[in-house]
Amino acid sequence: MSNVLSIDDVELDGRRVFIRVDFNVPLDADGHVTDDTRIRAALPTIESVLERGGRAILASHLGRPKGTPDPKFSLEPAAQRLAELLGLGEVLLTDDCIGDGARKVVHDLRDGHVVLLENLRFHPGEEKNDEAFARELLKFCDVYVNDAFGAAHRAHASVSALPRLAEVRCAGKLMQKELAALGALRTDPATPYIAVLGGAKVTDKIKVIEALMAKVNAMFIGGAMANTFLAARGYAMGKSLVEADKLALARSLMQRAEDAGIELLLPVDLRVGTSLEDSSATVVALDAVPEDAMALDVGPATEALFEERLSHARSVFWNGPMGLFENPAFAGGTLGVARAMAASGGFTVVGGGDSVAAVQQAGLADRYTHVSTGGGASLEFLEGRRLPGVEALAS
Ligand code: ADP
Ligand code: MG
Repeated sequence: MSNVLSIDDVELDGRRVFIRVDFNVPLDADGHVTDDTRIRAALPTIESVLERGGRAILASHLGRPKGTPDPKFSLEPAAQRLAELLGLGEVLLTDDCIGDGARKVVHDLRDGHVVLLENLRFHPGEEKNDEAFARELLKFCDVYVNDAFGAAHRAHASVSALPRLAEVRCAGKLMQKELAALGALRTDPATPYIAVLGGAKVTDKIKVIEALMAKVNAMFIGGAMANTFLAARGYAMGKSLVEADKLALARSLMQRAEDAGIELLLPVDLRVGTSLEDSSATVVALDAVPEDAMALDVGPATEALFEERLSHARSVFWNGPMGLFENPAFAGGTLGVARAMAASGGFTVVGGGDSVAAVQQAGLADRYTHVSTGGGASLEFLEGRRLPGVEALAS
């Protein structure tokens, strides 16, 4: 990203520094932040702006309000958590991200202080990439910083129209870290390079499977996605989640892997249950899935196979759990991959909301080269697509 400025190259002292962060965090029923990873990930940029005498004006979206204010989607919980993390009594949150109230707060903001603007998606202009809305935000922006990698694949006003209007635009520290780690996988990954793909649906991952075929030496398929591949090979999958309309696609992907000389590893055994809530798993061979059971995790032989192969990998990208890891009876395959990757000593990157939740749950997040804060954005980036939020930073 040679044509994108870094925040380190920009004068910040006494300037209004608009930082697009990704505070789209999960909340519980009482409105408390249940996972503050994304807020923590933005701290290096925020702290650097404050230390360097900038006035930090933070903006984010949260959830999917329908272009209108909705207290359910207020950034208040994120403001509270940020205050705790910064060791401040309070982080001021504006009532609205644009308008007179916000203008007054930003006007009164002193050097080295921080304010958070209320949810950008309370205005329809955000998701419409509306220039008039972007111009309202531009009033708070001597310097524009994008640190919201998780939103970089969306052409929305705060990540696309606004930076194009800003006189000075640059990438924040998290954005730089994400682009460096994922960029290394896209350009010159050390080999053997293994991709581990799982999760719910083949449909979600087709493009990334295709793109990764041009790069990897081996691809492991697990999760519900593997069921569709196994069904395509002729196995009876009982009540398992199978995308019946994707069997031909699965066959063609397997053929393409073979033609390209890429090893495509499917599960060699499975853990099945009778329902998603089943409290114990039964290990079965591929040709022995009972009619009334569903495959909810890869089996122990698969785990051992994947682990052994991962121990020799020099680069690994992982997206998508190997099973229904939310249920401890079916978390074995996911935890096995998580541990083997951590132990491999290679260049390891995890992306995807649920996969990242799994490695966090396992307490392994700090054992990888990089844990991406962007699920969709990391996949689109590895597909080789241009991300609107990165494009807009170019000078
Ligand atoms: P990510 O968010 O990491 O990209 P996905 O959203 O694609 O991952 O998929 C994660 C979901 O897939 C999890 O909720 C997990 O329980 C589910 N899943 C994985 N394997 C299975 C399976 N065999 N049967 C049912 N659900 C599964
Ligand atoms: Mg998910």
